[in-house]
Amino acid sequence: MNKKQKKVLIRIIVSAVLLILIAILTSEKLGIPFLSDNGIVQLILYLIPYFVIGYDILKKAFKGIMNRQVFDENFLMAVATVGAICLGEYREGVAVMLFYQIGELFQSYAVGKSRRNISELMDIRPDYANIEGENGLEQVDPDEVEIGTIIIVSPGEKVPIDGVVVEGNASVNTSALTGESVPRTVSVGDEVISGCINMTGVLKIRTTKEFGESTVSKILELVENSSSKKSRSENFISRFAHYYTPAVCYGALALAVIPPIIRLIMGLPAELGEWIYRALTFLVISCPCALVISIPLSFFAGIGGASKAGVLVKGSNYLEALASVKHIVFDKTGTLTKGIFQVTGVHHSNMERDELLELAAHAESFSSHPIGKSVQAAYGKTIDQSRVTDIEEISGKGVTARVDGRKVAIGNSKLMELYFVPYKDCHDVGTILHIAVDDEYAGHIVISDVLKDNSKDAIKRLNKMGVNHTVMLTGDSKAVADHVAGELGISEVNSELLPGDKVSKVEELLDAKPSKEKLAFVGDGINDAPVLSRADVGIAMGALGSDAAIEAADIVLMDDDPLKIVKAIGISKKCMRIVYENIYFAIGVKLICLLLGALGIANMWLAIFADVGVMVIAVLNAIRALMVKNV
Ligand code: ADP
Ligand code: MG
Repeated sequence: MNKKQKKVLIRIIVSAVLLILIAILTSEKLGIPFLSDNGIVQLILYLIPYFVIGYDILKKAFKGIMNRQVFDENFLMAVATVGAICLGEYREGVAVMLFYQIGELFQSYAVGKSRRNISELMDIRPDYANIEGENGLEQVDPDEVEIGTIIIVSPGEKVPIDGVVVEGNASVNTSALTGESVPRTVSVGDEVISGCINMTGVLKIRTTKEFGESTVSKILELVENSSSKKSRSENFISRFAHYYTPAVCYGALALAVIPPIIRLIMGLPAELGEWIYRALTFLVISCPCALVISIPLSFFAGIGGASKAGVLVKGSNYLEALASVKHIVFDKTGTLTKGIFQVTGVHHSNMERDELLELAAHAESFSSHPIGKSVQAAYGKTIDQSRVTDIEEISGKGVTARVDGRKVAIGNSKLMELYFVPYKDCHDVGTILHIAVDDEYAGHIVISDVLKDNSKDAIKRLNKMGVNHTVMLTGDSKAVADHVAGELGISEVNSELLPGDKVSKVEELLDAKPSKEKLAFVGDGINDAPVLSRADVGIAMGALGSDAAIEAADIVLMDDDPLKIVKAIGISKKCMRIVYENIYFAIGVKLICLLLGALGIANMWLAIFADVGVMVIAVLNAIRALMVKNV
């Protein structure tokens, strides 16, 4: 609880005690002279707890009137309570204010808690980095560590900054980032991302990024900003409140004035006091607090729960959209397949196998594409990057570079066509990398990828969840693409696409579907950033470490398990269910109470209990969205 909340709590206690004391002292049973029979004395007494508890609400209501923004909850409460006191219902007046404040305190506590929870849950913010100073290890602020510094991470410590291991090996726990509990072993040469916890050995890491650019900072920034993007439901609620509050105020006015006039016309006593009391009750009931607070809180909790499971959602609008996804478009490489290619054949025409592989690996030495990495790995020997110049990566086609001054082009048939190099077809199944050296065809390397273990299961479960249209887009050859799609049970395949074609294909799909159904694109963030941002919901998977993907995506899956997509949709559906439960519940109870109030059955006590009660239940229900274990 923060200072402000503590202060409110003290005010609540003080005024509650005063209210009870005064109620006892002025009761007719005790019959204390001057107290039980003197209205003025009673009024003065009750005004003490009233101001203790309500002065800020009165002030805000007054300010609202001055700024011509009359109709808000403060105004409702001020009018209702002042009105009650004017009618001589002192106790009700004070109690309404008191319960309203209890409700407000409860909600501000719940919101504050869940907001903090989201960052706290993840518990990944590193406090320091160890560097080797003149007198042994020194702890410094991670912000001050420059790129290329060697930092030391002991067992039990968090890796503060992204980098590469230069000494030692250890198993690191990434569960705070990915929700995945199986630790990963790293040794010399491996990349480690900040936010992991070192479980075993001492690691020396050479940093490759500044703290501000490291994975942890990116993630925290993303999570902290997620509340600024409002969902349609939230916008609906604020628009609703905008019309609703004035409407009930006029309704209350009508209730106070019209029936007495009609009664007068009919020759009956007006009973003005009775009708004003009903109108005030109506006002108290109509306060939309439960609704206004529980919706954003549900989204908060949903986003928090998701991040606990390794799914980062950049705003409630995306969580909402995700729940109505009916079409999912997948990138193939690295998304449905592992993106770890095995070289299954090297077919060389006019040079030795080793030479071909050497040229290929060097040309690919700067590539971060899974294909490039696999070729480097297949070569197996150390690569001397100083031999490579003029590197150019041609998205969706391949790479060209000069190796020892020789011009090397490696990529698919489109690349060969680009340079007018005649190429030989290959009958092996797999992705074919043609290689041309000095514009002469030099042979090809056949590589093949394997499906991820969970891809098939994920597609099946998505179908079950109502995502019945799955599409795979790939730059790879038709043979490979059809084979993969067949294995997985994907309904539509488009192959041999350039990154630009993927965008237009997604646009086509967006046009073809009804606008209520949402389309998600899932990619690994390598050369598909434009598609990620074009889809209704862009999901980047396994994106830890890839800044472009984290930036372009709406939802970031922290590891590359396709089942995380299922999980993410499950979480969003649960969250939306809770949001709607709260909306219907709050509006339903309000309507019933309003009706009872207008009929004169509900009094102010019932009204305030209904309001606080609905709020507490709605808030507790909202917090359920945090629990995502078995979604
Ligand atoms: P996907 O759509 O499956 O993710 P990409 O669009 O990334 O595939 O790549 C499409 C094709 O372009 C690959 O199948 C490959 O033939 C070629 N290609 C892309 N990058 C490289 C590279 N670094 N080296 C060789 N070929 C590449
Ligand atoms: Mg790709």
